[in-house]
Amino acid sequence: MALDIALEGARIARLAPVGTLMDAGPRLDLQGRLVLPGLVDIHTHLDKGFIWKRAANPDGTFDGAVRAVAADRAANWSEEDISRRFDFALRCAHAHGTVAIRTHIDSDGPRAATAWKVFAQMRETWRGRIELQAVGLTAIDSVLDATAFASLLSLVREHGGLLGSYTYATPQLEAGLERLFEAAERFGLGLDLHVDERDREGRGLDLLARMALARRFEGPILAGHCCAIAAQDADEADRTLDRVAQAGIAVVSLPMCNLYLQHREAARTPRWRGVTLLHEMKARGIPVMVASDNARDPFFAYGDLDLAEVYREASRIAHLDHPHGDWPTSITRAPATHMNVAAGTLAPGAVADLSLFAARSLNEWLSRPPTGRTVLRGGRAIDSTPPDYAELDDLMERPA
Ligand SMILES: [Zn+2]
Repeated sequence: MALDIALEGARIARLAPVGTLMDAGPRLDLQGRLVLPGLVDIHTHLDKGFIWKRAANPDGTFDGAVRAVAADRAANWSEEDISRRFDFALRCAHAHGTVAIRTHIDSDGPRAATAWKVFAQMRETWRGRIELQAVGLTAIDSVLDATAFASLLSLVREHGGLLGSYTYATPQLEAGLERLFEAAERFGLGLDLHVDERDREGRGLDLLARMALARRFEGPILAGHCCAIAAQDADEADRTLDRVAQAGIAVVSLPMCNLYLQHREAARTPRWRGVTLLHEMKARGIPVMVASDNARDPFFAYGDLDLAEVYREASRIAHLDHPHGDWPTSITRAPATHMNVAAGTLAPGAVADLSLFAARSLNEWLSRPPTGRTVLRGGRAIDSTPPDYAELDDLMERPA
């Protein structure tokens, strides 16, 4: 829709049909260019980002990623190391027009407290530029280790975080999820889980929905990935999605990371290229979003916390076009609503956090790599150049 946008100070004062706010003061003719509100990245891993140069994934597989991150974390994740990489990631995101981010934080073992300390510092330092939320991440099996879970829970509660877990096909899945629900209910915490990411046979999403319904869980639940459902027959998938909708679970797809890791074997072309069933979810009213996930770490070799790139890839991978409809809300209003942050909408009274692109339509926007944008924060242009990789070179000279 073509609109005139009137700014007053740091806020949007009015929106009106194009050409109708002609005499309202100094005027910038954008010639019909695309304007997006402040972008919201609801699933990232800022504690492990930008380690690629010293901790590459040797073969691009999921197991390779787990091993490379574990070795690098044990050797290198000091407070300074996490802090500088975390800040670097935030500067990338900020330059690309992102105003709010939720990050998962590896929360097992002795390094966890340091990572949460850095998160707390960053949340303060960046307040007003990027709103930060964090999720305590641990393997679902570790949830059943009473000591480990108690320490995860205390970090999450101390820092106002959410409870998370990386779930996979394990005999402990149900017991682990029960434990998470119990803790979430007892302490009033939201849940944000990695679900059915790597196993085509995974049925974690269905179990999660059944448990949320059985317990009448009232807190927010965000399920990330949910790839396995794309490999299920339509009847089973439909039944699961009906339960997900009824349980009020929101879903975030992480297409770039999924397609990097999924079905990777040496010298073999991947055949399983499935993300999650975004269209079928949206049709049922399930809130759906897309997000960055990892950036330049062993789980995803590339990426820059740039939601314009994420949306462009997602649009092509999951056919978020013909019509484009309101799919751009998957990086704006939908994640902002789930995170309960004031962002992601163009409306009178909203802070004028805007990205102006050198494109006059979604077709032009999606055709070229996402360059040439002006980012306004509170109505003023910021430097939209991401930081130089060389800034982290000294940290990268410490192989695991
Ligand atoms: Zn993730």
